[in-house]
Parts: sequence; C-alpha cells; structure tokens
Amino acid sequence: MTNQINNPQTRQWQEMSQRHHLAPFSDYKQLHEKGPRIITRAEGVHLWDSEGNEILDGMAGLWCIAVGYGREELVEAASRQMRELPFYNTFFQTAHPPVLELAKAISEITPPGLNHVFFTGSGSEGNDTMLRLVRHYWACKGQPNKKVIIGRVNGYHGSTVAGASLGGMKFMHEQGDLPIPGIVHIPQPYWFGEGGDMSPEEFGIWAADQLEKKILEVGEDNVAAFIAEPIQGAGGVIIPPESYWPRIREILAKYDILFVADEVICGFGRTGEWFGSDYYGNSPDLMTIAKGLTSGYVPMGGLVVSDKVFEVINECGDFNHGFTYSGHPVAAAVALENIRILREEKIIEKVKAETAPYLQQRLRELADHPLVGEVRGVGMLGAIELVKDKQTRERYPEELAVGMICRGHCFANGLVMRAVGDTMIIAPPLVISRDEIDELVSKARLSLDLTLRDVQA
Ligand SMILES: *Cc1c(COP(=O)(O)O)cnc(C)c1O
Repeated sequence: MTNQINNPQTRQWQEMSQRHHLAPFSDYKQLHEKGPRIITRAEGVHLWDSEGNEILDGMAGLWCIAVGYGREELVEAASRQMRELPFYNTFFQTAHPPVLELAKAISEITPPGLNHVFFTGSGSEGNDTMLRLVRHYWACKGQPNKKVIIGRVNGYHGSTVAGASLGGMKFMHEQGDLPIPGIVHIPQPYWFGEGGDMSPEEFGIWAADQLEKKILEVGEDNVAAFIAEPIQGAGGVIIPPESYWPRIREILAKYDILFVADEVICGFGRTGEWFGSDYYGNSPDLMTIAKGLTSGYVPMGGLVVSDKVFEVINECGDFNHGFTYSGHPVAAAVALENIRILREEKIIEKVKAETAPYLQQRLRELADHPLVGEVRGVGMLGAIELVKDKQTRERYPEELAVGMICRGHCFANGLVMRAVGDTMIIAPPLVISRDEIDELVSKARLSLDLTLRDVQA
C-alpha cells in the first residue's frame, strides 16, 4: 500500500488528530498509530488527499453526495442565505421562508400522503423524533400502551441513544446498556449471510414472518411501530429477496401499528426512484430523511409524517420536542437547491434509465472473480461478498479481515470502497458517468486480485 508520506503537513495534521480529535467509530489506539488519511478537496466524484492522490469516491462521502462535489449552486445558496438570515429558530410560533419552502418541496416528491416535515440536524435525530412522535401519537389516540418499536438485527438507524437502540448493531448495543427498554428486534432479510439452505424467496417469507411473530409475542396493543430501511445500507447493502416487502405489507395491513421507513440512505434517488419506498411500492406512515437531502453539503435531517399521523397530533396540544437547529435556514436553503438540481437536471431519471443499469451490469462482471461469492445491487447501491468458497458461501476466518485488506488495496489504488466485515459496498454519487463507472469497476477488480494474492500468501 502507498502509505508513504511526502507532504510534511500530512504529519502535522496526523499529530493534531492524535492529540485532539476523537473520530467517530474508531479504535483510537489503532487510528493514532496509523494516522488518518487527510482528505483535502473534492470535485465531481473524485477526492484528493493531502499527498495529492486522486481517489474515486465510491461511497459518496458517507452515502450523502447525490449531485456530486463542487456544485457552485449549493455554495451560492448557502452564502446567499447566510447574508440574508444566517439563523433563526422555528420554535415558539416563528418560521422563515427557506424552511417553509423546503417542507413544501419535500411534500411534492415524497410518496402520496406524506406531507408534513419535522426538521432535525441529522438522521439519528430524525429517528429520536420518530420514537417520541409515534408514542405521542398513540397516547393522543388513547392507547398509551402502544410504545414498543420493532427494529431489525443489523439495521442502522443512527448513533444517538434512540438511534443506536432502534438499530440492531450488536457492537453498538454492547456499549452503554442498549437497547433502551421498549425496543425489540427481528432477524434481517440477509439471504446470502443467513439464508442457509432456503431459497432466497423462501427465506424472504421466513424473515418477514418474524415480524408477525414478534407482534404477537409483544401483543398488538403494545406495539407502536415497525422501523426498517428499504435496503439496509450500513449493514452491508442488504437487498431483501423479492418476497420480503410484499409479505411485510400483508402483515402490516393486519395489525394496527405504524410503519416507519428509514430513508436516510435510500431517499433522494439512490435506488433510481425518489425514495426506496417508491422503489418497493411501500406506503410508510413516517419516513426518516437526511444524507442525500442536502447532498451532505451541510447537516440536515428530518421526519416526514403522513396526513393520518398529522391529523391526530394536530388535535393533541404541544409536541414537546425540538432542536435548536430544526429547519436551520442555511441547511434548508441548500436542501432546496439540491432538490432543484435533482429535479431540473433529471438526475434520478438518468440514474434509473442509464447509469444504474450500466453500473449494475459492470459490477456483476466481478462475480466471476475467485474471491467473489455474490454481487448484488439496486440503483446506485452495490455489494460484493468476499468468500473462501463460492459454492458453499463459506467465509475466510474473521481474523484474516479480508474485507479490510480489500479496502486497503482499494484506497491505495484510488478507490473508496467500504468494508462491512467481508462485504465490500459501494454507493457512488448519483452523477457518476459511464467512464467513471468503468474506472470504479477496473479499480475494484485490481483490488480484488491483490486481495486474493494476499490471502493466498
Ligand atoms: C446514516 C444513517 C442514519 C443516521 O444519520 P446521522 O446523520 O449519522 O445521524 C440513520 N439511518 C440510516 C439508514 C443511516 O444510513
């Protein structure tokens, strides 16, 4: 790997990291020994680090950068808004134009019936808001016992206490006594990893039926909501078998519980539709949004609420919840401009018709590689499963950390691909071109070759 450092400033920054910076999801000792890679600039779908290396960003920042890096219009929107009104709150019966215009713009692109938006600073805060709002909703309806929220093992819903509890990441639960009471989990629809001898379709039905089982176990009268990502992102781009969502819809129709789609990754075009719920034909009662909402240029998240839920809370006094930065005017102005670009440049239509089919076709060519057990993907999402045995789906021993080896080679070859265990995942900016897709796939193949060489050595 080319971890050689030639720029003396890189060392200085790494020292600052070591002395003062607590980075998210990091082993501090390990990080400080190696020093972080310092990203200094970006344009289109490419990053540059402090050593001058050019890197194709196969992860869109962190699933965020929909319209690409370096969009002057977003810079302009932020600076215009900062000059006009850099901040005002939306508490206590005040508002400002950008937040209102954004709420309206979002209601125009969300699935039918989802017309009301509570803004937050992040996806995690959106899910915290969801937890409080759905419990408030049921209390307003005279059913205060309906409190339990059902999430999924290996789902990701953020890192606040509520977010990490709703998510099903064991390594997060192990720190700080999570999940909090009132949150339970069902298995995930991860056929490649957990499907055993079942066919994908059988396994999809089995995984969906776990929801019904859990509702009956907890008692319908105690269940407030079910939360799920249309496609699990951080869990490893887990695309449910075709049978999964239709069966979940059948179950949801039988019981009086709310359905929350966490659209933080799938929203704003990632699947080739505006929302993952559109892609699957799901009709959630609430949707969490963030990431692609602003293309990551400034932090913002939110919870989109259906008319059905709104009508109840609208008649029920104060909702005692909010963040200083709820609907921040600069973030709202950037989000509005981001949505304008997505619409006017027909970026999502182009993803669906042209670039996503091309990406998916090119990615699947990697399935012939000896290390690869499966390639799957939807829209601008993809996953490559690294295995020891293609037929039995047997993994390499965990200590080998094959995924991390592959990630290292990718970085050294100028490609950001994330490793979730031994699953390599990508989610490039939606504006990635065919040429850049070719670049991504050839760098991925080279990295797979080098990984195989290491593993065999
Ligand atoms: C990233 C993510 C979140 C959390 O968003 P933050 O802005 O990091 O708080 C929630 N849900 C999903 C599906 C995510 O991918």
